[in-house]
Amino acid sequence: MKGLPAETDFIVVGAGVAGLRAAIELAAAGSVLVLSKTELPNFKTADAKSDAAWLSDEDEISLHLQDTLATGDGLCDLNAVKTLLEEGPERIEELIAWGKHHGTKLVFSQEITSSRSRALHAEGDVTGRAILRVLFEKAQSLKHLTIAPFAFTTELLSDGGHISGIALIDQKGVPQQVSCSAVLLATGGAGQLFRNTTNPESATGDGVAMAVRAGAEVSDMEFVQFHPTALHMKKVPRFFLPETLCAEGAYLRNFELNRFMMKYHPEAERAPRDLVVRAIVHEMEVSRSKDPFVYLDLTHMNATKVEKHFPRVYAAFMAHNIDITEDVIPVRPAAHFSMGGVRTDIHGSTNVPGLFAAGEVATNGLHGANRLPSNALLESLVYGARAGKAMRAAEKRAAKHEKQPRAAYSNGPVDTGMEELVEQIQDLMWNEVGIVRSRMGMQKAVKSLEEMAPKLAHPKTRRSHEASNLHLAALLVARSALAREESRGAHYRMDYPDHDDKKFLKHSVVRTEKVVFVS
Ligand SMILES: Cc1cc2nc3c(=O)[nH]c(=O)nc-3n(C[C@H](O)[C@H](O)[C@H](O)COP(=O)(O)OP(=O)(O)OC[C@H]3O[C@@H](n4cnc5c(N)ncnc54)[C@H](O)[C@@H]3O)c2cc1C
Repeated sequence: MKGLPAETDFIVVGAGVAGLRAAIELAAAGSVLVLSKTELPNFKTADAKSDAAWLSDEDEISLHLQDTLATGDGLCDLNAVKTLLEEGPERIEELIAWGKHHGTKLVFSQEITSSRSRALHAEGDVTGRAILRVLFEKAQSLKHLTIAPFAFTTELLSDGGHISGIALIDQKGVPQQVSCSAVLLATGGAGQLFRNTTNPESATGDGVAMAVRAGAEVSDMEFVQFHPTALHMKKVPRFFLPETLCAEGAYLRNFELNRFMMKYHPEAERAPRDLVVRAIVHEMEVSRSKDPFVYLDLTHMNATKVEKHFPRVYAAFMAHNIDITEDVIPVRPAAHFSMGGVRTDIHGSTNVPGLFAAGEVATNGLHGANRLPSNALLESLVYGARAGKAMRAAEKRAAKHEKQPRAAYSNGPVDTGMEELVEQIQDLMWNEVGIVRSRMGMQKAVKSLEEMAPKLAHPKTRRSHEASNLHLAALLVARSALAREESRGAHYRMDYPDHDDKKFLKHSVVRTEKVVFVS
């Protein structure tokens, strides 16, 4: 590929669903540079092992107002939810049309269970992967749009308080700057903050950290959704087992192979997700293992039925020589989705002129305190398109940057001690700011993170930038979780197990180091 331009009209950081959808919108108004810090996905090859990364129990996009509000536990922004549901069908129909053109079949149908809800499925593929494929094909067919792989954005540049470009480390490890009129952050989640996560290795909170350094507000950072049953086996990717397996009759067993969910809820394995997650954590705590986990057991279920109902799960495990109809599966909870992020309005605008955000890195109040499964892809589509439209209206400006970005040199060599620091952050977050939280634990985490700061202050390589971003994002999550003295949605505190609507039926917002709560 050719080198990157020194100037472009628009920059989109992130080549996921949100970034690509925004870029497609922007390409009609000027030149667009889309950056991905990883390689671009290869849709030509498909094998069960690599397809496991796409496994999901939310294998559809569906439209549900009441369920979204109920899951958000009082904190959903009604306007953001309504916008999602009103504009969702149009975004989906458009996607189906683009898919048809490129030979990917997506179906948007009325669900049998409810006369009002409609759902999008991909035929013969995982829905998330099929959507990304359609967007890639559409984006690559557009004239003014360039997608650059292995381009690691390190910093946002500004001119008189207006975002005017970015600094990056390119494919060859060379630092560069690119000027533009407006930047969209679409960098995805921050699951790598935690020791156990379903997220890819690239989910290191870069977008949130860059935004905060540029003066943007972040909101609802304490709300992190955990998936109950991620595979826990050495040398096998941490893909997750769909919760629908429990709904179909799978059992959860503790380390001693005893079923335990009946102790926690009359619905046993079919109890609400957050309760199942906390029950598993408790069983892991009381087990005597140094490396605790529980088992998911399908061995009592009809093998042919399991194979037929869950063909992708079955195939993904068989690719690792595990027959889930004969063996119990070691699992434990894992960080899955960040409800919080860079604070935006429903057009993707942040409080910093020229800076926009969409997708998992952003928050506009859509998910509130917890996310309804399957709403994230639709969010990325609808709000990616909206952010693209808003950026088109951004004033075109001549390039001029105020200050030099933090130094960025090369891809390697790997910084000494950096991996240990990342592991320390992940352990602290998992143990003290994870599924079950308390004041003492979180104060300990904040103090340890603050003490670590000098070691991460001058990142030079890709990995040290990631470590530094993880560190900042960890502080934002820990401080916000400490400030919310109640339990709500995905945020559970042992010392405050109930809601406190009077004080906390509000969104947390981090301004500099201070957490404030706003309606
Ligand atoms: C295993 C799994 C299954 C899921 N299944 C579903 C589902 O079925 N339905 C649903 O609604 N949701 C699902 N989710 C959630 C959903 O997939 C995500 O929330 C959504 O894809 C986020 O899209 P995004 O565009 O915001 O970010 P992503 O798709 O995560 O893309 C982020 C992009 O940003 C780039 N990037 C990050 N940092 C930098 C940087 N510093 N410089 C340059 N580029 C950078 C990355 O390379 C990547 O291209 C799932 C999540 C996981 C982990």
